[in-house]
Amino acid sequence: MNNAPHFSPELPSYAVYDLLSGDPREGAATVSVLGDLAAMAIAGDGPLVRLQTACVPGEARARAAMPADCDCGPQLDAARQQIIEQGAGVLFYIYQDYGHNRADEREYGQCARFLLHYNVSRVRLLTNNPRKVEALEHAGLIVKHEPLVVRRG
Ligand SMILES: [Zn+2]
Repeated sequence: MNNAPHFSPELPSYAVYDLLSGDPREGAATVSVLGDLAAMAIAGDGPLVRLQTACVPGEARARAAMPADCDCGPQLDAARQQIIEQGAGVLFYIYQDYGHNRADEREYGQCARFLLHYNVSRVRLLTNNPRKVEALEHAGLIVKHEPLVVRRG
C-alpha cells in the first residue's frame, strides 16, 4: 500500500510513517502519504492534506477515551479517517516541545516545500484554522479549505 516517498534529501528531518498504523517515528516532523504523489500532483484541486501538531496528552487521552482539554486527539483521528475514506492524502505530523497549536509558519513552510518538491501545488487542506491556510498560501500553494469533521466520542 505504501507508495510513500522515502527520505527526501532536501528535508532530512522528515520520516515517513504508515498512515494506517499511525506510528510516528522520531524526528522534527513526519509525513505520511496514502496513495501516489504523482497522481495527486495532477488531480483537480489536489490531495487532502492535514498539518497536525503533536499533542501527547491530547492524543493519549483520546486513545484512552478520556476527556481532554483540547481536541487534538479527535482531530488527528478525524483527519486520518477522512484521508483513508478518500483513498489518498498527505498527513504531516509536526513535533512540538510546547504542545498543540504552537507550530508556526516555519514548520508549515517545510510541509509546503515537501509537497512542492513532488509537484503538488494544489491542496485541499483539512483544517478549521485559517492560519494554516494562510501559511501554505504564503509558501506558494493553492489552497482549498476543507472542513475537518470531528466526531466527539
Ligand atoms: Zn492538544
